[in-house]
Amino acid sequence: MGSDPSKETGHGVSFWELFEEDWLNGRHIPLYCHTPGTTNWTTKLPVDTAAVSVDDNMGMSGMATLGFQEDDMVEYMNYVRLGPKAPLEVIMHELGHTMGMYIDEYGSCKDTDI
Ligand SMILES: [Zn+2]
Repeated sequence: MGSDPSKETGHGVSFWELFEEDWLNGRHIPLYCHTPGTTNWTTKLPVDTAAVSVDDNMGMSGMATLGFQEDDMVEYMNYVRLGPKAPLEVIMHELGHTMGMYIDEYGSCKDTDI
């Protein structure tokens, strides 16, 4: 899912869900950013992966980093965190922030980490 790079900017966006093989049970299981049960970033993903996660304490809200930030030494640097009841417009709003969109039409946007 995503788009080809823009002719004007050369930038494009792609999304994909990663799975790993569960050889014992013969199935594919989702590859999470963290090693299950810990806060340790899994070494199977590049550290500059933008992680999308659900935070049970966030209700209908969300938060995200602004733009793509790159540092090979910092794990989990680009992220979107969403409440379990976040509506589609909140999800799209936060994904927009991670792509560099800063929305300030209704006053300051306080849901973005910069
Ligand atoms: Zn915002």
